[in-house]
Amino acid sequence: MSTILETENLTKRFGSLTANGDVNLTVESGTTHSVIGPNGAGKSTLFNLITGLLEPTSGSIRFNGEDITGESPHEVARRGLARSFQITDVFDGLTAFENVRVAAQFADDRRSSMWRSADSLTDAGGRATEILEDVGLADRSHQRAAEFAYGDRRKLEIGITMATEPDLLMLDEPTAGMGREDTISTVQLVQRLADERGFTLMLIEHDIEIVMSISDTITVLQRGEVIAEGTPDEVRADEEVQRAYLGG
Ligand code: ADP
Ligand code: MG
Repeated sequence: MSTILETENLTKRFGSLTANGDVNLTVESGTTHSVIGPNGAGKSTLFNLITGLLEPTSGSIRFNGEDITGESPHEVARRGLARSFQITDVFDGLTAFENVRVAAQFADDRRSSMWRSADSLTDAGGRATEILEDVGLADRSHQRAAEFAYGDRRKLEIGITMATEPDLLMLDEPTAGMGREDTISTVQLVQRLADERGFTLMLIEHDIEIVMSISDTITVLQRGEVIAEGTPDEVRADEEVQRAYLGG
């Protein structure tokens, strides 16, 4: 296995509050890696640091072997580190197909700028069609996004994100506001798509049973610090985690 993401002593202070303190995290390529912890543990802060929305107080971040500490969200996204659903907003005035095609073109632009090749004439439209089928929106692909109800909009967001072809996709509570059934089907959809396309997935999800069932690795944060990391079974068996978090 190879490492796709590594943080070293990553620290973020807000005044006297340490939201992340010396976080050392290693994410292996191709895995689903979840971050859990009570409210205020620093999960979103960690994702914000990694994706460049916040600048660390100290420490460093390496992505695909390169130091990306202090880079802007845009620079980070161009490297293939995506955070749903912020870089890739849904455009209400465009159809579902157009939304996904724009995102597929972003992936093409990224490739051509990385490889400095003029050969960026790939079939963004064809890929958009495939992705809309994958997320179950094929029959609505020519409807404007503004007409989509909540659930379909989430599916569209997933499609848009997939179309950008990230190497690492970070999802901060992607199912917030959904019922349990929708949560499970959405998370499973994202995981299947990531699997098929070889993405690495990092996930913050509050439903602990879902996290346990889909994760390869779980990092547990408490008051900004990593208190455990391991497989779901290892984390479940960890006494400190049980005390702090699982109410065991
Ligand atoms: P989680 O996502 O695990 O619920 P957060 O990362 O959002 O936790 O927050 C961790 C701590 O940092 C909380 O105490 C929160 O109030 C604080 N915090 C987060 N963002 C900011 C900010 N921009 N300014 C000041 N404090 C913040
Ligand atoms: Mg949060």
